[in-house]
Amino acid sequence: MSGNCLFCQIVNKKIPTEFLYEDENVVVFKDIHPAAPVHLLIVPKKHIRSINDLQKEESLIISELFMIAKDMAKKQGVNESGYKLLFNVEKGGGQVIFHLHLHLIGGWNK
Ligand code: AMP
Ligand code: ZN
Repeated sequence: MSGNCLFCQIVNKKIPTEFLYEDENVVVFKDIHPAAPVHLLIVPKKHIRSINDLQKEESLIISELFMIAKDMAKKQGVNESGYKLLFNVEKGGGQVIFHLHLHLIGGWNK
């Protein structure tokens, strides 16, 4: 856990947030400023700053994020209509929370 990281605080339940999914390694919650009718954040519990900081031994975490994203898309009913999966990487890439997270965005034409 990184002391002043917002998503570490959410993961560690210091900031009450409804989880749509949780397992040993990952949580999923709704984006507080949704960019689309469905906008979820798929977040590893481990503090990793961004894709740039990923270590080889963390590869499995990335595949877990995508597998969970796929399942969440189905649960949210956007798997057939379609959706975007997005990592913003560092400031120039639009990242504002420096704890790795995968955006699941969709639901425009459900
Ligand atoms: P990024 O720009 O990729 O770093 O995305 C960070 C996202 O976190 C933004 O879309 C924010 O709307 C979202 N966000 C910030 N604070 C919270 C929060 N407390 N709960 C849920 N989502 C949040
Ligand atoms: Zn963190």
